[in-house]
Amino acid sequence: MKITGHTKITGIFGYPIEHTLSPVMHNAAFENLGLDYCYVPFLVLPDDLPYAVKSIRALNLRGVNITIPHKEKVIPLLDEIKEEASIIGAVNTIVNTNGKLTGYNTDGIGFIQSLTEKNISVEGKDILIIGAGGAARSVGYYINQKAKSLAISGRTQYKVENLVKDLNRFNKNKNVISLKNVTHIEKYYMIINTTPLGLKDNDPLPLDTDLLRKDQIVYDLIYKKTPLIQKATEKGCLTIDGLEMLIWQGAISFELWTGRRPDIAIMRSSLLSAIR
Ligand code: NAP
Repeated sequence: MKITGHTKITGIFGYPIEHTLSPVMHNAAFENLGLDYCYVPFLVLPDDLPYAVKSIRALNLRGVNITIPHKEKVIPLLDEIKEEASIIGAVNTIVNTNGKLTGYNTDGIGFIQSLTEKNISVEGKDILIIGAGGAARSVGYYINQKAKSLAISGRTQYKVENLVKDLNRFNKNKNVISLKNVTHIEKYYMIINTTPLGLKDNDPLPLDTDLLRKDQIVYDLIYKKTPLIQKATEKGCLTIDGLEMLIWQGAISFELWTGRRPDIAIMRSSLLSAIR
């Protein structure tokens, strides 16, 4: 990569940031299109977020991704928040247009696009989300617009109830419900794990995989092949892991910064070789 005074800088603010995979796929996609851009990880401590956001203007960065733990806290620091980011309550992408900072959320739409690429639609289907954090909120917002019903289950009941209430505010059919326990999983077309269960070796499974049927889809937002993905694959389910959502949310950010569509295959192959 040749960096000059003309090179436009993008990147990611997070804490921790050491394990981010985003630079690999963005830099590969810039190079593939011959774009004079680069993508850099920035370790931003929680107390430093206001300074880091100011530095986007001061250093003339083209834009950044925002990751844990800054996605919510960054909102009041920006000049404009796009509607979906405001409804979801989290920003994962900032675009700097001549000093004006606009916040977007590309997680949920990235999730939907990863399904569209595989000709999967949630339209008219019953969907279950496990977990009620930020990712569940982003994904739930888009699923809610098309699905027949959306059930949400999580370990902290008040957070589940809050998410259900918020999602139903944007849905005239009010078809989002909370589940106290993950039961009757056989009735769902798709089950989505949005908890970190599966990241660590001794984590319990987020659901009883013996109850899965082979015509169900299991989507785990975690980037690696988790025990849930392995067991669901063994049961014959169609499985999708978090790399797909990572790629698609990144592709939308890429387009917001550059105005160009990245090559998804390049992004995917660069990620796969990085994690192998
Ligand atoms: P978050 O806001 O912290 O939410 C995590 C959710 O998981 C909460 O509902 C939390 O429950 C629950 N949870 C945490 N530990 C648990 C445990 N041991 N048992 C049961 N439930 C547990 O995090 P997030 O931003 O939504 O991210 C969640 C996961 O999605 C992470 O693994 C992240 O890497 C992944 N993710 C992937 C992508 C992608 O592009 N593929 C994008 C975003 C996120 P409590 O509220 O009770 O703590």
